[in-house]
Amino acid sequence: MPVLDPATREALEARLSFYRELGLTDFYRRAVDASQIVTATPDAQFSKVNDNVAITQNLGAPSFLKDRGGEHEPDQANPEENNLIPPRKTFQTPPPISPEVPPTDRASALQLIREDLGECTRCVLHKGRNKIVFADGDPNARLMFVGEGPGADEDAQGLPFVGRAGQLLNNMIGAMGLKREEVYIANVVKCRPPQNRTPEPEEANTCSPFLFRQIDVVRPEVIVALGATAATYLLGQRQPLAGLRGRIHSFRGSKLIVTYHPAFLLRDPRQKKEAWADLQIAMRELGLRPAAKTVS
Ligand code: URA
Repeated sequence: MPVLDPATREALEARLSFYRELGLTDFYRRAVDASQIVTATPDAQFSKVNDNVAITQNLGAPSFLKDRGGEHEPDQANPEENNLIPPRKTFQTPPPISPEVPPTDRASALQLIREDLGECTRCVLHKGRNKIVFADGDPNARLMFVGEGPGADEDAQGLPFVGRAGQLLNNMIGAMGLKREEVYIANVVKCRPPQNRTPEPEEANTCSPFLFRQIDVVRPEVIVALGATAATYLLGQRQPLAGLRGRIHSFRGSKLIVTYHPAFLLRDPRQKKEAWADLQIAMRELGLRPAAKTVS
């Protein structure tokens, strides 16, 4: 048995505990190299198996109860996260206008969008920001996550989902059998709203065309909208989250799945089970299984 350094051990224990919370209980170290591991999509970027852990028990996922309480995150105190707000307003989401960007050109196409954004002053959110949070991840990702907008940690680092909600999102991605670097992560607005309030429609409508351009470049097979704000501006209509979850929508050529925002899950961990059910829809569409079939 190899001796693990404390940091690696801690990371592995955290990962295992997260899987257990999902109800995935049988783990063992891989005795074979990754090329011997059969996954649902052997030709895809997701065929890489994460870390050194294989999961043998499939889904079903009871709720997991860790990670209680939340730091403040973009307005996830918003009651619409609790499905309380009825439909009220329609927003425009233009269809894709750009031709498909070849995979080899996607990073530079995204860079062009970033350059167009520049040191943006198009809406008032620029006044309070430290860093623009453009995106993170693989320009050729098959799976994209869209959140609401940067919080304090993201504003400081210039990267999406790097605070506590980001840690939970990383765990969710890991539970799907993926690594954060294999997906693409962006937000509806790229500057932090004051006090992490929900972006105003004018702010979201000013910023979201850049998000749509990013989506048109990446062309993910599946987009997961995290929370009501992402769902509203991607789907072009405001509806209670409950009515949007559990089914597959379509957006600019991608399949769109709606789930709870990780910050909301930090505050109400009982809903993690529901979120996991949503992620399983995404996994099914991508041909992913959390379980890697091992040879030995
Ligand atoms: N919440 C979001 O919606 N986006 C982030 O980037 C971080 C937290």
